Amino acid sequence: MMKTNSVRTLDIEAKYKQDFRRTILIVDDEPVNLRLLGNILKEEYDIAYAQTGEEAIEEIKNQKEFLSLVLLDLYMPQGNGYTVLDTVMGSEELSHIPVIVFTAEKMAEVESLKRGAVDFLHKPYDRPEVIKARVRRAIELSIGRNIINTTGVDKLTGLMTREYFLQYANEYDKFHPEQEVDAVVLNVSKFHLINELYGRRFGDKVLCAIADGARSVARACGGVACRSGADSFYLYIEHQTDYDFLQKSLTNRLYEFMETQDARLRIGIYPDLYHSANIQQRFDRALHASNSISRNANATTVAIYNNEMYEKEVFEAKLLGDIEKALSEKQFKVVFQPQYDISGEEPRLCSAEVLARWKHPEFGFVRPDFFIPLFEENGRVKELDRYVWMEAARQVRRWRDMYGVTIPVSINVSRVDIFDPDLLEYLKYVVSENGLETDDIRLEITETAYTDSVSTVLDVVMSLRNEGFKVEMDDFGKGYSSLNMLTSLPIDALKLDMAFINGIARNNKEMGMVEFILEIARFLKVPVIAEGVETSEQYLLLKNAGCDIIQGYYFSKPVMPAEFGQLIEKNIGQFKRETASGREKTDE
Ligand code: C2E
Ligand code: CA
Ligand code: CA
Repeated sequence: MMKTNSVRTLDIEAKYKQDFRRTILIVDDEPVNLRLLGNILKEEYDIAYAQTGEEAIEEIKNQKEFLSLVLLDLYMPQGNGYTVLDTVMGSEELSHIPVIVFTAEKMAEVESLKRGAVDFLHKPYDRPEVIKARVRRAIELSIGRNIINTTGVDKLTGLMTREYFLQYANEYDKFHPEQEVDAVVLNVSKFHLINELYGRRFGDKVLCAIADGARSVARACGGVACRSGADSFYLYIEHQTDYDFLQKSLTNRLYEFMETQDARLRIGIYPDLYHSANIQQRFDRALHASNSISRNANATTVAIYNNEMYEKEVFEAKLLGDIEKALSEKQFKVVFQPQYDISGEEPRLCSAEVLARWKHPEFGFVRPDFFIPLFEENGRVKELDRYVWMEAARQVRRWRDMYGVTIPVSINVSRVDIFDPDLLEYLKYVVSENGLETDDIRLEITETAYTDSVSTVLDVVMSLRNEGFKVEMDDFGKGYSSLNMLTSLPIDALKLDMAFINGIARNNKEMGMVEFILEIARFLKVPVIAEGVETSEQYLLLKNAGCDIIQGYYFSKPVMPAEFGQLIEKNIGQFKRETASGREKTDE
């Protein structure tokens, strides 16, 4: 399955040779010679010319990123060729560019090799074939030296690394300014599940098969591929009018050893016909397109970046500009989504999740999916979260005063908040300020925060729990927790990622996964909260499987405090009977 190392290296080299029209600088004081050499080489290369040493140095500096070779006449009236050679070899920025000198003198050959030239040619000139062969060889050697050895080939798949790929794509554009291109992003849906279910070794096999597919598609479409992340790949190819071929070739290798429904790819494409965006933007947009495909789609799916996505991008840029004002004008509202304990005969209202809404003067209510990531990226989420937490606690206090019961609520703690050294102090302040207990306020921390920075999160979670806060792992199933890790995690509840619930049906794979997670939770002795429950089928399946708590549109959307108050009022009887801590029952 996996290629050997040498094959991988050759692979890139071949690609590199084939795709680049490389640039050569010819330096000679006699125009006749320039023309002569130029004619021999221009079929294969782009040629730049210089007639003096000074000009040569300037040209080399200007084009240092693209020059593949300098052909240098050692004897020129203004500025000796050795000066050029020494300048190139003596500069860290330039010395990667190979120089071939041409000269009529035997001694000069040795001297120039000593000073760093890679080869020499004779004057009067050698035969064209000799010149071409030496030029080609010098370039190949320098590629081997400069690129393949120093920069990245991904160890597992043998594809280029992302960094090298982006550099390559940039250069490709410069050499093919007219070429219409497609940026393609490839994700494996729920790859972590493949790892989790079949083991890492098999997961690696899957990645290699996808890499093989990516490589052959890239070849067939005149482009290149790289592995851009753990389970994602980039392709940069000539623009295609039909993506069927792409989709089929990318999945065919996979189907050889996996069931089709297990091997699902999300393919996002950004066609750039006019080179209107830079490389990074193009891949960002392709990613946008691939993210528009549901993780639960049951087949490999292609999405092409479209106007709607563009508008979303513009929308986000607009929101970004409005953050400052929104915070200072308190445009944020807090809503509550009820959670029901379903372990008894009748579902019982037991708690709520606190969710933020942005009441934007122009766009109306904006959902956090849009703005939370923006706040996180711009260092403002701490401010927002603190505001939300305080508002939530005040509300819990108000309800307690009104109805005589304490409704525990779960607040969202951003992955960024974890790194706030005053987090614990602030949360204690929120609680004490409103005369509540620490376990009235539960903290949702997303699973990927744990897996991204295990030790920090562990320390923080430990200190929070020591003070009596309950910590719930949010979006469980999205991240990469291993069983091993889970057993050592200090958590009080698992919150099943919505994506699992979406596809459950009697005895299907998704349901199997949910049952498996419930099993884990029983082993860990923590309750499971399922969110995103929308239908009565889902509700019943979860109830029968032994799920403890449910949140979702089936019961209620997130609602404003007043509406939630009415809900409490309606259910107050059972609240008084039931102490507010529905969640500990599995601990008994
Ligand atoms: P989350 O923590 O996973 O929150 C659950 C999301 O699922 C909420 O979206 C909720 O409205 C939605 N939802 C609940 N039931 C259903 C259902 O039956 N069907 C469907 N399709 N959706 C359902 P929302 O409010 O848009 O929040 C999105 C995410 O934004 C949250 O995901 C959370 O990660 C983040 N977030 C929300 N409020 C805050 C906050 O105050 N602070 C921080 N840091 N993050 C927040
Ligand atoms: Ca949450
Ligand atoms: Ca969640």
